[in-house]
Amino acid sequence: MVESYDVIVIGGGPAGYPAAIRAGQHGLSVACIDDWKNADGSHAFGGTCLNAGCIPSKALLESSELYQRARTEFSTHGIDVGAVGLDLGRMQARKNGIVKASTQGIQALFKAAKVVGLAGHGTLLPGLKVDYTAPDGTHTVLSARSIVLAAGSSPAALRTVPFDGERVLDSWGALDMTQVPKTLGIIGAGVIGLELGSVWRRLGAEVVVLEALDGFLPMADGQVAKEAHKQLLKQGLDIKLGAKVDSAEVTADGVTLAYSDGGGAHRLAVERLVVSIGRRPRTEGLLAEGTGVVLDARGFVEVDEHCRTAVPGVFAVGDCVRGPMLAHKGKEEGVMVADLIAGHFGEVNYRLIPSVIYTHPEMAWVGQTEEQVKGSGRPYKVGVFPFMASGRARAMESSAGFTKIIAATDDDEILGVHVIGPMAGELIAEAVLAMEYSASTEDLQRTMHAHPTLSEALHEAALAADKKAIDFPNR
Ligand SMILES: Cc1cc2nc3c(=O)[nH]c(=O)nc-3n(C[C@H](O)[C@H](O)[C@H](O)COP(=O)(O)OP(=O)(O)OC[C@H]3O[C@@H](n4cnc5c(N)ncnc54)[C@H](O)[C@@H]3O)c2cc1C
Repeated sequence: MVESYDVIVIGGGPAGYPAAIRAGQHGLSVACIDDWKNADGSHAFGGTCLNAGCIPSKALLESSELYQRARTEFSTHGIDVGAVGLDLGRMQARKNGIVKASTQGIQALFKAAKVVGLAGHGTLLPGLKVDYTAPDGTHTVLSARSIVLAAGSSPAALRTVPFDGERVLDSWGALDMTQVPKTLGIIGAGVIGLELGSVWRRLGAEVVVLEALDGFLPMADGQVAKEAHKQLLKQGLDIKLGAKVDSAEVTADGVTLAYSDGGGAHRLAVERLVVSIGRRPRTEGLLAEGTGVVLDARGFVEVDEHCRTAVPGVFAVGDCVRGPMLAHKGKEEGVMVADLIAGHFGEVNYRLIPSVIYTHPEMAWVGQTEEQVKGSGRPYKVGVFPFMASGRARAMESSAGFTKIIAATDDDEILGVHVIGPMAGELIAEAVLAMEYSASTEDLQRTMHAHPTLSEALHEAALAADKKAIDFPNR
């Protein structure tokens, strides 16, 4: 084994593996060390996102939505399928196959970029060195000119209800259930809680979501959050806001929670409980004594806007540093850092990180919410277009929700775009590109959109901002 590299990346998730690949593309010698362990003890690159996050959750969201549509919507299209059955084993096997193909794909990408993938643990040592522990326990000290820390994050636990992998599950456990629970409790109405709740609700569970905050999705635009709340309640998700869990007791056949809200103290018995209250940086065991890398009070690696740590030559990216815990944010940071290491230009536009929630309807946004724009004091205008008025959305039997564009009154600059509706996550890409190029609503208004497509709803929202919408009365 080569003992010395140009670049060593610790962590092979969506922040680390792109850093390694881009560094390899620059002709640098690169090793990527990753210690992910699957339930069967096997190793796989791809981190949380590919193994236990983005990819398996979207696979199950897709399958469960098809199941739901087959049961409730197909007849509307004139398709009679008789009784619709559920084979959860096959559904899970499909998901596992997608995960495997995705993680194995990284090995092929490493090969093409000449990246050395090392299964095992990495600990940063002082002096640009790394202690690499192989799966058989042997230690090797590797050195590099630059080191990228991409250790990611792990689920935060609740002291009152520790994970037991049986009744009290983290998000990974919730993706791997082999039976649909009759009743499922979820603590935390964040992105992950709502996506997982949607999956199991569609598959037949009674789902109760307990959220300690009084407001629903406070990070989203208020109008979007209100519509989402309405739609999710309509689907049967029982979302209890301002509900604080006081204690929990694991019993032979479930979990009994005591929680309190504005209405007093309550008890809730569920067959299984998912705790999704957020994630913590996985920086324990990452740094040896005396490296000089600084962690903040919550355990995140401290970095500047170019992901440089306090130690020259050591960078940190992805979930283990500040900013939203999103795969695409980590990816851009990883690529930026590799470009900088190779002496090229690199930057991340932190103002334009798209957010997507893959519920039904989907939600997606970029830039500021209306509440934030209002708070900034800058005069603004708003264009809203309901999917109900979109021919394509109606043809798709998916006309709930709307597109919303917020722009400055003075120079027409687009400040925020919010979508709740079909394919919101795909539609938002146009808004990100437009804002990346400082587009105005007039730029969008003058851009031709194919008919009939969902993208016309963004076009119409841009027109509506100036009361020029064609397909919906202007207000
Ligand atoms: C259920 C769920 C759904 C999600 N859905 C989405 C989504 O739809 N879109 C989205 O953008 N984000 C989503 N996320 C978040 C996304 O998964 C993370 O933001 C992303 O994985 C972070 O990438 P990362 O590379 O920083 O860390 P990780 O993906 O956590 O990868 C870090 C890797 O480093 C390894 N590692 C850590 N320490 C060491 C060490 N010392 N030595 C060797 N290896 C080490 C870990 O084993 C892991 O393999 C989801 C998360 C969950 C849990």
